[in-house]
Parts: sequence; structure tokens; C-alpha cells
Amino acid sequence: MGLNSSKNWIGGEWIAPNAGELVIKNPSDSTEEVGVLHLSDASQVVQAAQAARSALPAWSRLTGAGRADYLYKMANALEANLTEIATLASREMGKPIGEMRGETMRGVNLLRYYAAEGVRANGVVIPSSETNVLQYTKKVPLGVVGVITPWNFPVAIPIWKIAPALICGNTVIWKPAEFASLTATRLAEIFASAGLPAGALNLVIGKGSTIGDVLLEQVNLNAVSFTGSTNTGMRVAQACASRNIKYQTEMGGKNAAIVLSDADLDKAIPMILSGAFRSAGQKCTATSRIIVESAIYHPFVEALNRAVAGIKLAPALDPGAYLGPVASASQFKSVMSYVNMAREQADIVAEGPALAEAKEGNYIRPIVAAGVDADHPLVQEEIFGPVATVLEARNFEDAIALCNRTEFGLSASLFTRNLAHAHRFLDEAEAGMVRVNQESAGVEYQSPFGGMKMSSSHSREQGQAALDFYTETKTCAISYA
Ligand code: NAD
Repeated sequence: MGLNSSKNWIGGEWIAPNAGELVIKNPSDSTEEVGVLHLSDASQVVQAAQAARSALPAWSRLTGAGRADYLYKMANALEANLTEIATLASREMGKPIGEMRGETMRGVNLLRYYAAEGVRANGVVIPSSETNVLQYTKKVPLGVVGVITPWNFPVAIPIWKIAPALICGNTVIWKPAEFASLTATRLAEIFASAGLPAGALNLVIGKGSTIGDVLLEQVNLNAVSFTGSTNTGMRVAQACASRNIKYQTEMGGKNAAIVLSDADLDKAIPMILSGAFRSAGQKCTATSRIIVESAIYHPFVEALNRAVAGIKLAPALDPGAYLGPVASASQFKSVMSYVNMAREQADIVAEGPALAEAKEGNYIRPIVAAGVDADHPLVQEEIFGPVATVLEARNFEDAIALCNRTEFGLSASLFTRNLAHAHRFLDEAEAGMVRVNQESAGVEYQSPFGGMKMSSSHSREQGQAALDFYTETKTCAISYA
């Protein structure tokens, strides 16, 4: 396969950044070079901000229906190139091709969902206390929005920010993660081919540590939508708060799955497995703490052990891969430090098979650890890899207390047949997404997505919630007396 190359897309022009380059190796086979990342400097961020600002009046003046036409075309173009973009992303960051195809289709659906919002009612008429006064609200765009995205959903996350930002009339500067920038370049090419006007979307490739700060501190932005780690997200929040611009930060997770003694284990175990190990555990909503009621602890762990032994670790382009490698050498190093910690300090109660073929890549055998207390780093820190920990709970109340004993609050699951426990869990679990007899990952795009506590800045993405973020409300009153 050919070598890809990253480019900036600024004001409708393709510009090769020139502040250094980085060769991207395939995480499934580190002898294969996938492409070259050209890194931007501050001047290109400034250029992108100028392009987004110049494009804003024309883009925001289009009708919603007019903007929708572009989003429908973007969706069609992405669907036509689905296999190509999914394959590139699998090669760039190691997500198995089946999942990557699903993610790309989610991107297509998100574009169509937000396109349809272009013609939906977006305000309310509020009765005035005065006669002959029409009082109503309307939503107006924020202006130029900075979109900063991680590598773990290289297609869906950018689209679930860019699509609502555009339909609401904003223009966008998009800074993708380094390890998803080849996919980002190709996505921008696809959107350009769909005829998106120059400057409505601007792509700037580079390191967060250099151009991220320029974006947040030196250019004229009206809002920022960020997804990534809690550490970076907190910096983003501080920078935006000090400028008094709107921001949302979707950050880390340490998601629990509670298994009560009346759970249907034949259904629960595949969902827990999928939550913990699909995408090699690199989902913000991944199941990483499995909390099991004492009465079924041992049979559950035995059943989990058998199930984990049957999952396939394989190169991302193998259609049978249950999980592939982790995304990068740095990610491998970080996850392996927890694997080693688990081997030294915990009991390994389940372990997936090793890679069947000899390949050099960032492969980590999935493991489940047990025998550590609730404050152990394996239980408290986001690992973002194929490592889950089992904890034993005396009863439902104890399970809820363990579930909430974390600084994070993104997603949580409960497996039970007891309706009262299900409802109590939905009330008492401190997480933005609470799911009964469903895995912790996999929230649908038409629903609000986001976390509580340190997982989020408490707004929501996707669904109708995104339309609130990307607009401001004006209260209008007109007297016709
Ligand atoms: P990261 O925080 O390292 O990077 C995220 C983005 O921020 C990248 O584009 C990066 O280049 C940029 N960045 C880095 N430093 C910056 C700075 N100083 N200023 C501005 N931008 C900067 O995160 P990651 O490793 O790419 O992604 C993994 C993390 O993302 C995990 O913690 C995961 O839980 C989280 N995540 C959260 C959600 C969610 O919706 N809550 C979804 C997916 C991933």
C-alpha cells in the first residue's frame, strides 16, 4: 500500500506544514510505514484562524437548509469512501477493521442526523406580558470553534463535533491527534471533494504541546470542543475560562460494570468482554472495573476466564480480530506499566491468547486482574488498554459504593434481572451514561454523550445536546403596536 502524507487544509488550500515530520508505523506491524506526518508551527494555526474568521459571515448567513445540503454531500462522500478510510485508520491506529467500518458508518449517520437539524425548529415563542409584543428565542452560532480530538475514534469523534458545529453556522479549526492525522487528512480530502466551501472547516496537523497552546491562547476563537485525557482537558478548560469563551471537555473514564447475583451471565459476560477489550480497551467508555456480588464471584470469574481465553488478538486488518494492538509505542509503554504492575501486585484471573503469528507490533494480551483493594492504582487510574480489574461486592449497596469510588464519572453498567435494583442504579450511579444489561460503551449518536465528575466539563455532546453547545440563545422581543 502507498505511503500517505498529512497536509493542512486551510481556507480551501492544501498546505504542507514544514515544522518537522514524523514517520507513522503500523501498530499491527511496526516494520510497515503507513505515512509521514508533517507538523505545523504557530503561523499555520494563525492562518487557519484567519481563514475560519473570513469564511464565517458567508457560512453563518446560509440558511440551515443550505448548510444541510453540504452535510448531506459530506455524508455521501464519506459513505462512498468508507472502506478506504476505515482501512487507513486501522493501519494508522490499530483499531480492528470491523469496528473501524462501524465507526465510519456512525460518522456518515452523524452527518445525516445533523444535516436534518438544518430545517428543524430551533427556538420558542414566549408569551409577552405586554400587548402586541412578539417575544421569542433563537439560536445563533458562536463563531469560530476550535475542535481538538484524540486518536481513539479517529473518524466518529471529529464528526460528532464538526457536523453540529457546521450545521449551527460556525466555522471550524480542527486539530486532530498526532496518531490520527493521516486519517484526518483523508477525511478532509473527502469533505473537500464534497464541495464544502473554503474556510468552513480548516485542518491543522501538529503536536498538541506546540500548536495546541497557540490555538488556545493566541488566536481569536469563540469556543473550544475538546476530547482527550483529563490532564490536557483541564488545561484546555483553564485557558478557555481565562478568556471567557465557551468550552466543553470530554475526558477520561474508569467505567464500572456491576454484576449482581441474579444477572444472566450468558448475556452479561459477552458485553463485559466487549466493553473491556474491543478497541484494545482504548475507549473512554471501556469497562475497566468489574464489580461482582460475592454470591456469584467465583463462578463469574471462572466463566470470564473461559470467555477471555477464546478472544482473538490479531492484526487490525484481520477480519476476525476481536482486539488489535494498542495505538502507538508510547501507548504500549504506558499500558505495559500497568500490565507489569498487575503481574507483580495482583492475581491474574483471566488472560487472552497471544498473537497467533509472529509479528512485531504493539500487541498486549488482554488480562483481568483481581485481589487488589479499591484504592489500588489498577482500580483508580485510567489504563486505556486491555486490562480490567475485578472487585468483590457484598451486596447491591456495596457495589454502588464501589462503582462511585472514583474521580471519574463517564459510563457505568449494571447486570441484573431485578427492576428495583435497576432503577436504583440508574438513580445512584455517578456517571453521565448509566446502562442496565448493556455494555458500558456504545451510546447511540442521537443521545446525549458525556460524563460527570472529572470526566467532563458537564455539557453533553451528540444528539440534541450538541446543538445547545454550538449555539447561543438570543431572546428577541418586537413590539408591533
Ligand atoms: P490527549 O489529551 O493526549 O490528546 C487529545 C488531543 O489534545 C490531541 O489532539 C492532542 O494533540 C491535544 N493536545 C495535547 N496537548 C495539548 C495542549 N497543551 N493544548 C491543546 N491541545 C493539546 O488524549 P489522547 O491520548 O489523544 O486520547 C486518549 C484520552 O482521551 C483518554 O483519556 C480517553 O479517556 C479520552 N477520551 C475521552 C472521550 C470522552 O468522550 N470522554 C472519548 C475518547 C477519548
